[in-house]
Amino acid sequence: MGSLEILESFGFLPYIRRRGRKLMPHLSLRFRDATFHIDSVKGDINDYNLITHAHSDHYGQRNMDNENAIASTKTAKILETVTNKKFSGITFNVGENLNFDGLNLKIKTYDTGHISGSSAFLIQSECKILVTGDVKDWRVPRCDVLITESTYGHPEHTFEDEIDRIVEEAMDATYGVYPIGKAQRVARILVENGYHVKANQSISRICKALGIEIGEEDAEVELTTPKDVWRARGKRFVITAQKFYRLPRIVLSDHLDYGGILKMVEHSKANCVLFYHGKPSEKLIEDVKEMGKDVFTLKDLDMLSFG
Ligand SMILES: [Zn+2]
Ligand SMILES: [Zn+2]
Repeated sequence: MGSLEILESFGFLPYIRRRGRKLMPHLSLRFRDATFHIDSVKGDINDYNLITHAHSDHYGQRNMDNENAIASTKTAKILETVTNKKFSGITFNVGENLNFDGLNLKIKTYDTGHISGSSAFLIQSECKILVTGDVKDWRVPRCDVLITESTYGHPEHTFEDEIDRIVEEAMDATYGVYPIGKAQRVARILVENGYHVKANQSISRICKALGIEIGEEDAEVELTTPKDVWRARGKRFVITAQKFYRLPRIVLSDHLDYGGILKMVEHSKANCVLFYHGKPSEKLIEDVKEMGKDVFTLKDLDMLSFG
C-alpha cells in the first residue's frame, strides 16, 4: 500500500489514525523522532498538530487547549474570535521557520493565499514534504512530496474570479459570503474600492479582529451569510465558485480551479503527490500520473492505531 511505499522512498510514514473503530480526520506523518497530525484532532502527548488555517473542516477549533498545536498567529486569532477560547499552541508569522529542539527536522512556512493566516508547512527532514492545506496561489515551494487539496479536483471546475463585478454591483447590494475567510476577502476588496461596508455579527467580529474597517454608518453594501442573503431586499448575490445556489452568483473562490491544481503540481516539482482534502476525480489522478508522478489519496494509506 501507499504508506510503506512512501516510507521506503521518502523516509516518513503517512497513515490514517485509528482509535478503536473510528478513523481520525485527514492524516498523520510519522518521522523517526516526531509525529505530526495534519488538520486533525489532538494526538499523544509528544505529538504535534499542524493547523493549516481556520476553516472548521481543518480542526483548529478542536486544538484550542493543545500546547503542541501549531498555527499561524492570524489563524489563532480567527480561531479565538470564533470559539471565545484561548489558543494555547505554538504560533508563528507566515514566512517564518519553526525549529524543533533536539529533532532532526525543521519546518518552513508559506502563504497559500487561501484565507487570512492560511499557511503551508514545508517539513525538511531527509526529504522535503510540503503540506499545503487549502490553496489559492499555485506558486508553492519546490518539494519531493506534495500533500495537497483537491476541492475543485474535477475538470468541470474551471472558473475565473470576477473581482470587477463585485465592485460594480456593490452599491445597495447584499452579498452572501462564507463568514470565515471569503467575507474578509470581499470586505477588503470593497473597502479598497471606497465602499462603506456593513456586515452581520459573525463576519464583522472576524473583520475587526483582522483590522478590516467595516461599520454601520453610511453603509452602501452589506455582507451576510449565503444562508441569510435570501432575506435581504433588493439586489442579492452569492459570492462563490460553487454552482448549487439559486440566487445569482458572482464568482470568487478561495481555491484553485482544476487547471490551477495541475499548475501547482507542476510548479512544485514533486515526485509524489498525495491528495488529502477534497475529492480528487479519476481524471485528476490520471492527469497527475501522466505528468510522471506517483499519486496517492487517503484511500491508499494504511490505518494504524498509534498516536
Ligand atoms: Zn479552507
Ligand atoms: Zn478545506
